[in-house]
Amino acid sequence: MKRSDFIKSLTLLSLLSSTMKASALKKLSDNLSPSPKMPVLFLGHGSPMNAIEENEFVKGFRQVGNEIIKPSAILCVSAHWETKGTFVTAMDSPRTIHDFGGFPQELHNVQYPAPGDPNLASKTKSIISSTDVELDYNWGLDHGSWSVIKHLYPDADVPVIQLSLDYRKSAQYHYELAQELQKLRYQGVLIIGSGNIVHNLRKVAWDKLNGEPFAYDWAIEARTKMNELILEGDHKSLINFNSLGKSMQLAIPTPEHYLPLLYTLALKDEKDNISLFNDKPVGGSLTMTSLKIT
Ligand code: ZN
Repeated sequence: MKRSDFIKSLTLLSLLSSTMKASALKKLSDNLSPSPKMPVLFLGHGSPMNAIEENEFVKGFRQVGNEIIKPSAILCVSAHWETKGTFVTAMDSPRTIHDFGGFPQELHNVQYPAPGDPNLASKTKSIISSTDVELDYNWGLDHGSWSVIKHLYPDADVPVIQLSLDYRKSAQYHYELAQELQKLRYQGVLIIGSGNIVHNLRKVAWDKLNGEPFAYDWAIEARTKMNELILEGDHKSLINFNSLGKSMQLAIPTPEHYLPLLYTLALKDEKDNISLFNDKPVGGSLTMTSLKIT
């Protein structure tokens, strides 16, 4: 090889290596978080009246909204959207669904005009591989999402999409599906599970809904046990809630208000902190216990 050729090759090599460095750097930056890691919330929504009442729970929601970084969008898993299959709302402007009866007109008049986020819906569909997720253009925001999100973001200026609960599937299935959403936490998305951990409407003490907090013994037992398991990070026991005894079976007679909790817990990683708020019983057989994972 002539000296000049040798120098040419060296230059080529060094060019090649700087190109490789650039591509390696780009790869690295692609892997870096484009936004800080977002918290995850579980919100005990309780009565739809919490949408318009001023009470300690509403204050708790408002406070958590002020504490956390403002998201670019919200993905909510609500107890009130159960479907055959898994759907994600993909419309530009989701309607406010008043999915309840027997409440004052004032509550039916509430509108929460947060925009949708069709791009986030498509992204959510694409990152879930355990099942086919379908884009939905009919649902909107049910009270499981708007009655609580309105206290976090009263100006309705954060886009909201909902992910449905496939009612045919097991708790383990939902927990694993939720883990697939982890990536969204690094893209400015606040993931919210909305339900109630202790939720037995058949046993509500209607005469004790107001005034001093009241809970049946089994509800206190279930709440204590569940809070312990949540704080210990014993997700396996929480997934197998049916084998945790009578009080737990009374607390979770049907799974739809409990499953959103599993969506929230599934997203907790070992570096996250977890704290409880609004941890009070209502009407004997409900708890408003909510979680913040940061
Ligand atoms: Zn509910």
